[in-house]
Amino acid sequence: MALVVQKYGGTSVGSTERIKHVADRIISSVEQGNQVVTVVSAMGKTTDELVSLVGEVTAQPSKREMDMLLSTGEQVSISLLTMALQERGYRAVSLTGWQAGIQTEQAHGNARITGIDVERINSYLEDGMIVIVAGFQGVSEGEEITTLGRGGSDTTAVALAAAVSAERCDIFTDVTGVYTTDPRYVSKARKLASISYDEMLEMANLGAGVLHPRAVEFAKNHKVKLMVASSMVEEEGTVIEEEVSMEKDLVVRGIAFESDVTKVTVSGLPNDLATLPSLFTILSEHGINVDIIIQNETGKETTTISFSISDDIRQETVAVLEENKHRLHFEAVDCEQNLAKVSIVGSGMVSNPGVAARMFQLLAKEDVKVKMVSTSEIKVSTVIEEAVMVKAVEALHEEFQLAEEVLSI
Ligand code: ADP
Ligand code: ASP
Ligand code: MG
Repeated sequence: MALVVQKYGGTSVGSTERIKHVADRIISSVEQGNQVVTVVSAMGKTTDELVSLVGEVTAQPSKREMDMLLSTGEQVSISLLTMALQERGYRAVSLTGWQAGIQTEQAHGNARITGIDVERINSYLEDGMIVIVAGFQGVSEGEEITTLGRGGSDTTAVALAAAVSAERCDIFTDVTGVYTTDPRYVSKARKLASISYDEMLEMANLGAGVLHPRAVEFAKNHKVKLMVASSMVEEEGTVIEEEVSMEKDLVVRGIAFESDVTKVTVSGLPNDLATLPSLFTILSEHGINVDIIIQNETGKETTTISFSISDDIRQETVAVLEENKHRLHFEAVDCEQNLAKVSIVGSGMVSNPGVAARMFQLLAKEDVKVKMVSTSEIKVSTVIEEAVMVKAVEALHEEFQLAEEVLSI
């Protein structure tokens, strides 16, 4: 008998019809002889709707109450799914994050899982029950409800799979696997048979929302066999694993992108050793997450530093800088909005010089101005105008021949 963890995302449990369909899928796995632990997200757009309710009440919600609210979404779907299983004559039990023993840091809204006490889950499994766990939530040492960050149910599933030593963790979603790029934007995107943990981690961190980055990190660190597949279509999914055997020759495996990027430029800073550490210490002390950083000496005395952030923290970032003007001694802060980050990812880049050059040449040919660049061994990221984001992704997809399958011999 194999123990498997399955996860179903928001769209997959978006209606009672879909919940009943998920119940049938779980039953089919049980009938094949598996023990099943299932993690579910909130129904459809529930979490977004809860967030927008907050906006009607306050502009500055407390993080504790946000978690209290957002964690209710998953409680609806676990109970309905469990009832659907019971209705079909199967013994099942739903568990919230804390009932499932999912311990996290205190950090409300973006807590990391620190450990899972699997005793309760194991005893239900030993008793032959199907266990349904609420994704995206846990409990802190201070017994407060926490959430794991948007998209965090994937991480619940992978962490549980590691904790109960499941044979594998299957993430069922609304696409049939991990594609070369988001298939909702690029019709020529191609489903990958497999992708390495490292490539998937970069893709997820760079905006490919199909998996929560921490889920991939967890899977890599705990060697969890991870698969992404459709909850609706019976089709082979994508395996995420250590070494990718097929398609070895591909230099670029995928393209990730994200919009709502803002470039912040702080000019007229003193050109001395203290500037860089002071600026970024102040930003980090306020929990401001900075992405790409560029520094330009503008003269002997002054320097300009630009960095990119997510647009939703623009106002807070500018306020923090203005509050600290007397410490940083800059002249001005400017924000350039409506930008996007487009990144090419592939472990084959390490041994292939010239990939970045090829990307820049292509973007220039397409009249796409690159405003910021950052590279690592397996990715090149560029910040460009949001208006040309999809055009750039499509052109890069073509340039690196991602629509075609390349098999290694
Ligand atoms: P779920 O609710 O099941 O967790 P998500 O919306 O979080 O689903 O993730 C699935 C979505 O991820 C897809 O609908 C797709 O638009 C998006 N996506 C982004 N990049 C990719 C990619 N490279 N491959 C597949 N899907 C992607
Ligand atoms: N319901 C949460 C969200 O919408 C968690 C998840 O779906 O993974 O972000
Ligand atoms: Mg998701």
